[in-house]
Amino acid sequence: MNYRTLGKTGLKVSEIGLGSECFVNHDEAFAMEMYECALSCGVNYFDLYNPEPYIRSNLGKAMEGRRDKFIIQGHICSAWIDGQYKRTRDMEQVRAAWEDMLTRLNTDYIDVGMIHYVDEQADYDRVFGGEVIEFAKELKSKGLIRHMGMSTHNPKIALQAVNTGLIEVLMLSVNPAYDMLPSNEDVNTLFEEETFSGNVLSNIDPEREELYRICEAKGVAVTVMKPYAGGALLEEKSSPFGVKLTVPQCLHYCLTRPGAASVLAGAKTCDELKEAAAYSGLPESEREFASVLANAPAHSFSDKCMYCGHCAPCTAGIDIASVNKFTDLCEAQGDVPETVREHYAALSAKASDCVECGSCEKNCPFGVHIIKAMKRAVQIFGQ
Ligand code: SF4
Ligand code: SF4
Repeated sequence: MNYRTLGKTGLKVSEIGLGSECFVNHDEAFAMEMYECALSCGVNYFDLYNPEPYIRSNLGKAMEGRRDKFIIQGHICSAWIDGQYKRTRDMEQVRAAWEDMLTRLNTDYIDVGMIHYVDEQADYDRVFGGEVIEFAKELKSKGLIRHMGMSTHNPKIALQAVNTGLIEVLMLSVNPAYDMLPSNEDVNTLFEEETFSGNVLSNIDPEREELYRICEAKGVAVTVMKPYAGGALLEEKSSPFGVKLTVPQCLHYCLTRPGAASVLAGAKTCDELKEAAAYSGLPESEREFASVLANAPAHSFSDKCMYCGHCAPCTAGIDIASVNKFTDLCEAQGDVPETVREHYAALSAKASDCVECGSCEKNCPFGVHIIKAMKRAVQIFGQ
């Protein structure tokens, strides 16, 4: 398992994490089995959005005596009301659901307090202009949450939240299909077939691109949900690209987005979790998604670096994907952030080492003009 720094929180998290959907309709023994399985795979990052009392209690028992092995992003505003899940902004319900989570998990802190599911502008205004954000700040000041996060499916909302400077972790739905759609307040449309019909699959949505770059530049970690687009990407019939991707290819796509720290892999069983966790040890040839997407019958990615690394190896030893990522980050910021300058300086070969042999351009399935891109990097970084 590889570990990544969770942005400015400084926490070291497994690049593959575990969500809580799998615990629905299962007992304590299953919770124990999944947690054992996760730890044996090196997974230390866990999302808990489910408010079902029995799930929280089962997880609390499964964590007993080893709380320190778990880095938990626990959701604020996810409540169990009248026997049903409810996303709530009613402060009485919010406080009660929060207390319930701590009690049932038998813990006195949550690592990342995730303000739950903010997709609509009106809701964002309510959350960030009112009592919810104040509650989250209060939890942080008391040490009940160590860091603050927010979950959303909407890049427009995500950008606003990230720009407040309050959010340290962003839980976002990420996959190559959603990345091509414009921002939308209705998450349900993401799952509809018509959403992807017509000519919408052309390059990453500019707002998404900007979001990823700003997250990386500001040290806001992205934790990923829906990496397989609800399973649609794993089947040729349902894939909007007209071609299926494998689990490692989907994970690799998510983990090569700027700012990405961990993918909540959506495993329902121990075997599925092991399959996802095996990603970390796979050779590049089994992860790379570029050739599949570039040759898909329904796509039109072009002249956009996807940071896939398919162009490697470079004759001069340049890490082309990283150089492109760093220059994109600077262009998005209109500046050269110090952290990016440092990362660039740490590269063993610089864009100025490019001998213009052109071999990388033949390997790039997305038609990126790499030699031009290296010249752009030299202009920005001076080497
Ligand atoms: S230049 Fe092309 S092959 Fe290389 S990382 Fe970018 S998209 Fe991938
Ligand atoms: S053209 Fe430049 S970047 Fe591409 S392989 Fe040759 S030396 Fe490397």
